[in-house]
Amino acid sequence: MANTSDTVLVIGACGQLGSELTLALRNMYGGANVVAADVAVPKQADLRDSGPFEKVDVLDANVLAGLAAKYKFKQIYHLAAVLSATGEKNPKFAWRLNMEGLFNVLDLALEHNVSKVYWPSSIAVFGPNTPRQNTPQHTVMDPNTVYGISKQAGERWCEYYFEKYGLDVRSLRYPGLVGYKALPGGGTTDYAVDIYHKALEGEKYECFLSENTYLPMMYMPDALKATLDLMHAPAEQVKVRSSYNLSAMSFSPKEIAASIQKHLPGFEIAYRPDARQQIADSWPQSIDDSAARQDWGWQPAYTLDTMTQDMLVNLKKLKEAHAV
Ligand code: NAD
Repeated sequence: MANTSDTVLVIGACGQLGSELTLALRNMYGGANVVAADVAVPKQADLRDSGPFEKVDVLDANVLAGLAAKYKFKQIYHLAAVLSATGEKNPKFAWRLNMEGLFNVLDLALEHNVSKVYWPSSIAVFGPNTPRQNTPQHTVMDPNTVYGISKQAGERWCEYYFEKYGLDVRSLRYPGLVGYKALPGGGTTDYAVDIYHKALEGEKYECFLSENTYLPMMYMPDALKATLDLMHAPAEQVKVRSSYNLSAMSFSPKEIAASIQKHLPGFEIAYRPDARQQIADSWPQSIDDSAARQDWGWQPAYTLDTMTQDMLVNLKKLKEAHAV
């Protein structure tokens, strides 16, 4: 259950996930109780106008401590990270931001009596020797991107802070997230958002992955539901303290194009795989999320076709309003 008197901090609030999660949290806890924080400033009017914003670099522990003293946060959602494709361009910086940022948040939570911390992991924790179909919760993990390595290390540290210090940290291994409100931030699954933009603009889409590259994906409303359900589950039901496998659908570029063509028959796609193909080839094609289903009742609502229908309707409305 949500304790509506909690004050909540969202770090990375202007990103693809943060801009939607912040609004969902504000609906739940009240706008004034959910502080959005980011190094960037919010572009979306609804995010900007619905509650407090603080311009913060998560690498600055002193500024974070000042904020915690000011707002007395009970929950922190720490979303700021360098994602998979961008991380490969500057691996040392990706490691620094992803690890130091996490340590700053975990230590802040301990020092300022924050009750709960949320930190997302990713299917990027898996690697070329992981079973690629129905990837189990516990299996070989040999990530070969700096992003995946940082997420795997982050999972271990989250579990460590829970076991050693009793910090209530919760985490999900998101698949690729698809949403219409914000553009994605440099991941290997970004094509599954870009493709809807191009389709609605009447343009041919050139995909950076090959036609039969299957990856696990999830529509944003399901990702928000999973996150909020996990964070509001009674602590004893949260049995995995590294990060939960989470699944909704798996599809290839060819299949998402076919799903779009049911609504826009003239839509065309071409394939020009780039460096991101190699990353995609090292990741699972489908995920076994039975632990999440058993422990706290996870169930996704959207399939590829219901997502496509919803994406096209809502993205069209946004484009007509010139919001994206
Ligand atoms: P994003 O890149 O869209 O957003 C990240 C946000 O963090 C941006 O607004 C950015 O300005 C902010 N940020 C960057 N550096 C910062 C710093 N030093 N201090 C404060 N803020 C900073 O990413 P996203 O897609 O919203 O992802 C959010 C989280 O979910 C990340 O941890 C990511 O690894 C995880 N995740 C995302 C996906 C996905 O498909 N989007 C999949 C798996 C996991």
